[in-house]
Amino acid sequence: MEKHILSKSTYIKGEQCLKQLYLHKKRAFLRDRMPAERLAIFSRGTHIGLYAQELFPGGIDAGPKHPTQYRKAVEKTTQLLLDGQDVIYEAGFQADKTLILLDILVRNGDQWDAYEVKSSKSLSETYYKDAALQYHVLANAGINIRTFSLIHINPDYVRGEEIDIHQMFIITDVTEEVGKRAARVAIKIEEEISTLESEHSPKVAIGAHCFVPYDCDFIGHCWKEVKRPAVFDIPSIGNQQQFELYEQFKTINLLQNVFTLEEVQQTQIGVQISRKEHFNLSEKYISAIEQIKNNKSQYYAIKILSFTPAMPLYKDTKPYQQIAFAYAIMPINGDSNDVKLYVANGKENPHFEILDQIKQLNNHEFLAFENRVDLKQIFDLQQIIIDNCYYHPAMTKDYSNKSLSLSLGIKAPWKGIESDIVAAQFYDEILRNHKNSEEKRTAINAYLIRELLLVQKFVKKLSLN
Ligand code: SF4
Repeated sequence: MEKHILSKSTYIKGEQCLKQLYLHKKRAFLRDRMPAERLAIFSRGTHIGLYAQELFPGGIDAGPKHPTQYRKAVEKTTQLLLDGQDVIYEAGFQADKTLILLDILVRNGDQWDAYEVKSSKSLSETYYKDAALQYHVLANAGINIRTFSLIHINPDYVRGEEIDIHQMFIITDVTEEVGKRAARVAIKIEEEISTLESEHSPKVAIGAHCFVPYDCDFIGHCWKEVKRPAVFDIPSIGNQQQFELYEQFKTINLLQNVFTLEEVQQTQIGVQISRKEHFNLSEKYISAIEQIKNNKSQYYAIKILSFTPAMPLYKDTKPYQQIAFAYAIMPINGDSNDVKLYVANGKENPHFEILDQIKQLNNHEFLAFENRVDLKQIFDLQQIIIDNCYYHPAMTKDYSNKSLSLSLGIKAPWKGIESDIVAAQFYDEILRNHKNSEEKRTAINAYLIRELLLVQKFVKKLSLN
């Protein structure tokens, strides 16, 4: 069998940007380090695929045990077809120098029904592109396809005692749509392969496409020409507008004269140019800080962690429903020895239990940063930044806890967790009895404490100004 050049994922990279495809295949060493948040999101899809297989039970998995064994998947699939197997998971096919793994293939008389599983709640253009490629390869590999369908999660599904996978998934027949795209796929494959045959990477200017549909892995390489700070470091300006302004003005200094920009945008531009933080607390916040200073014993830093499991783990919950699983509190003038910490065992839905525990502390006032749980007793300090009362040059992307940590000079001293998303992934793995569960639990505890100290440090900073 001739070696393939493209796979589904490399084809999609080429759809986003031909230069990305080229660098991925030929200059992989230029790739940026993948943030742990993105790895956490990728790992979610695997579990969903396994559940969806239960819609068509009795199949044999032809999938490779390792990415270097893709071709073995094709050989195994060919053998399974010859053996008369009716349902094949991770079926491998190659045509047009492109290799794909189809999630589920089901025999229907002398034809086949093909299914691709997506872990999202709706279908996007990228999924149609991806399905069109698979349809093209299947057809060109000689598979007589009756239907091609996308399987995704039903956002309205509410779990009963057990998961009903037939209610949990929505199957959408996209045969007609992907059939219409077949000619374009053939042209695109040709274009991508000829790009890869070239000696040099194609010339592609940076643009909004660097983030759509996915953040490109080569931002560090392609964007090094952009002189920092730049308009891209202003979080209050949307992605599309950033590029429009960049095209027009190139340097951030020239943006100072753009009077159509909003006040918050102008403030942030000024901060990025001067490299000096902006502090302008409104009357409302000045009196709130005074209140905290005068009633310190009443105030506590709080951090609540939640996760959003794609598969509803508990009765009466929906896919991706937010569920609190841990919290920690500490007196606002305390230290790590004063921390009270709770991480649920997850056997029952911990969300309401955690909210009740916090509500019962009715003589406490809570201060949080980037709070995701709706509780009256909690004041989210992030609002101060959203209201343009504080902004620091380190906040180049957003106003997250990570950005605030950078602003306050706090480096992540622990191993493993840098954000709530990763903490949620660790918890999900603990519930799945991951072999390093104890380490992951320790990392969650350390993260909770660090978040409390972040709140404390921010309050101190606000009190001094
Ligand atoms: S950073 Fe942008 S231009 Fe560079 S390879 Fe990625 S998508 Fe293409």
